[in-house]
Amino acid sequence: MSQLLWGTPEALRELLCELVGWDSRTLTDGERQFAYHVQKKLSKLDYFQKHPEHLSLHEADLGRHFVTAFYKHPDVEDTVVLISHFDTVQIEEYGDLEPLAFQPEKLTKELLNRKDSLPEEARLDLESGKYLFGRGTMDMKMGLALHMALIEKASVEQWPINLVLLTVPDEEVNSSGMRAAVTELVKMCTKYKITYKLFLNSEPSFSQKPGDENHYIYSGTLGKIMPAALFYGKETHVGEPLKGMTANYIASFLTQLMEWNPLFHESDLGEKTPLPVSLQQKDLKAQYSTQTPHRAAALYNVFLMKRTASEIMDLFEQIAGEAAARCNASYQSLCENEKVEGIGEVRVLRYEKLLAYAEAKLGRELVQKMKSEVQENSEWDEREKSVRIADKLLIQCQELAPAIVLLFAPPYYPAVNTSNDPLVAHSIKVLKQAAAGFGLEVHQVHYFNGLCDLSYVHYNDQTNGWAAFERNTPVWGDLYSIPFADMQQLQAPVLNVGPFGKDAHQFAERLHIDSAFVQTPAMLESVIKSLM
Ligand SMILES: [Zn+2]
Repeated sequence: MSQLLWGTPEALRELLCELVGWDSRTLTDGERQFAYHVQKKLSKLDYFQKHPEHLSLHEADLGRHFVTAFYKHPDVEDTVVLISHFDTVQIEEYGDLEPLAFQPEKLTKELLNRKDSLPEEARLDLESGKYLFGRGTMDMKMGLALHMALIEKASVEQWPINLVLLTVPDEEVNSSGMRAAVTELVKMCTKYKITYKLFLNSEPSFSQKPGDENHYIYSGTLGKIMPAALFYGKETHVGEPLKGMTANYIASFLTQLMEWNPLFHESDLGEKTPLPVSLQQKDLKAQYSTQTPHRAAALYNVFLMKRTASEIMDLFEQIAGEAAARCNASYQSLCENEKVEGIGEVRVLRYEKLLAYAEAKLGRELVQKMKSEVQENSEWDEREKSVRIADKLLIQCQELAPAIVLLFAPPYYPAVNTSNDPLVAHSIKVLKQAAAGFGLEVHQVHYFNGLCDLSYVHYNDQTNGWAAFERNTPVWGDLYSIPFADMQQLQAPVLNVGPFGKDAHQFAERLHIDSAFVQTPAMLESVIKSLM
């Protein structure tokens, strides 16, 4: 019998099911409880019995915590950080099977009784017996289970390398867990005099297109940023449409230019970013009336590879300028045809300009009070609050209207790539060899396409490219921040190696059993041993 708690495929499977059983959907009480459960579980290991100070809970936000478990070899500085998130997305799409969503063994069995409700590929996978279904199996409780097993084995066998297991909440929404953890990682580095060699995440392998059965490992992750706009026109009654300008009219010009705009395409190492689309466009009227909507907002999703926030703001401003010019030209010819004077030209300004203007006009104190009023609203999330702050300021500075105010809404995930790092190149070779031992071929992808917490390490922008983000994010410093300076101190390369699964965030989320309990554990072990 193995002297390890989690040393066999069966034990690992049981551990996974236990972790999945602790419902930890983002922003639920379960997510708050999960960190305590993990701490308790890890505290059973001999190593943490002897070194309880190496196992800690740290505050993230909203009563949520992240966990660090540190295996330290007495004579070694080299350290690998094992990163995972323990929150999962919601489960509404399970319908009457909701109660089984967190019980993989039972769910997988029950699904056999209603195979026909599954899409064909999922049904075939179910019948093959090679998959375990359930929320969080693939994304990404298995990654955490693998890290727990690794730290156990390393501590029992006294591997000559240090491991920090870091597991965080809120990855699926705002990554508040990882953003808080970055600062803790920097502190640990000084406190224990250790050197980070690698940041190893174990998000699952995602398909690159439907039906894709390849197992991927990733040497970087795509970034994401959300330029947003507040549109401010002039109100009027529907019976006198020419006396005002709706915000929807202005918005239509910008959204037309933003969606699928190839100027946002980036490519690197043979991969390219998906095009931008709008995530939201709506007017800010509270209810229906015959007053025309004169305030609206839009939110755009932009993926990143190399560009900084400053570069994106420059590009966004250029496109908004073009949109405003088209809007003004169209409006002017309308005014000529209708023989009216019009309400003036739409201007484009960054949020930072609006803020400076409002502070000069109203005083800092009043502006701060207005911001706080918005931030205290418990019905709005960070995105809504971002837009509403700009809106509230512009209501007090209507002489600037009609206008498009440009801002950023959280979250922001910087892109990271370390494909050219020699240690990464070596690790990928090792991983491919280990996989080949199982007759498995793994493929390298340079940018993880699912967004992940690796965005918050290895930040190496030398141009202050984040400054535009700080200045144009209305909730910056109050409700949202990114520890850019600490991130710059975490310069070790990144790698993502996780189990194979399918349909993350969907009803048929499932994990490949051999990949999870046999192949990936061996791959991870070999890559860490190759660093010793
Ligand atoms: Zn994930």
